[in-house]
Amino acid sequence: MDAQLDLDSDMELSDDEMHLYSRQILLDGWDIDAQEKLKLANVLIVGCGGIGCATAELLARAGVGQITLIDADRIEISNLQRQIAYTEHDVGFYKAEILAKRLLAINPYIRVQSYTTKLDESNAKALISRQDLVLDGCDNFSTRYLVNASCVENNVALISASAIGFQGQLFMVEADAACYECLFPKEQHASESLRCADSGVLATTPNVMASLEAHHALLYLGLGTTALKQKLLLWDGRSMKQKILAFEKDPDCPICQAR
Ligand SMILES: [Zn+2]
Repeated sequence: MDAQLDLDSDMELSDDEMHLYSRQILLDGWDIDAQEKLKLANVLIVGCGGIGCATAELLARAGVGQITLIDADRIEISNLQRQIAYTEHDVGFYKAEILAKRLLAINPYIRVQSYTTKLDESNAKALISRQDLVLDGCDNFSTRYLVNASCVENNVALISASAIGFQGQLFMVEADAACYECLFPKEQHASESLRCADSGVLATTPNVMASLEAHHALLYLGLGTTALKQKLLLWDGRSMKQKILAFEKDPDCPICQAR
């Protein structure tokens, strides 16, 4: 009985939290109920680079209660041009650890876990199956396909963002909707050639996409909105134009049709 009471009081927002999130709770269309849903949410952020670090910071500020970070990389000087969570003092340290510390410094009311390893077949199920939402901001296709497959297998919602050069993409996979492999069949996208690391990226591009990804995550977690389900958002940083294209489930998709 006591444990139940403690659990209930833990789920409610304290006066300090109400103050911290007051500008959100005041918002027309967002209320205490939505804010409490954020507090209860478990979110995994795959990749703590340009997209992951900005997405994580926005979710921490907004009040997402449990954030898990995974990235095996250490911070390099060339990351500082766009990866806004890091400074020159952090070079050589693990991204996931430095970012976790920063999130807790921003918001002491949330829980943050970090893993300084690569997401792979051995840990994907254990990490992904306990989440309410996975946010992918990784820098390579093999991880992106693995995250998609594991989210579909474990019925966990996924929002995935990417940025190269002046361009960004964003989409959502949820429940029985079309998945990443429906959109980009693996055999056509086996190449690892398109990565920020070798292709170049303007400082702002990943941060625009991270903001859109975090925004969609808040809508989904707080209000249950799935604006980009079976839709691909394309952002062009030269013309400033945004396009949203609908896509369908592939009847031959080896990932979501096998469920
Ligand atoms: Zn599919």
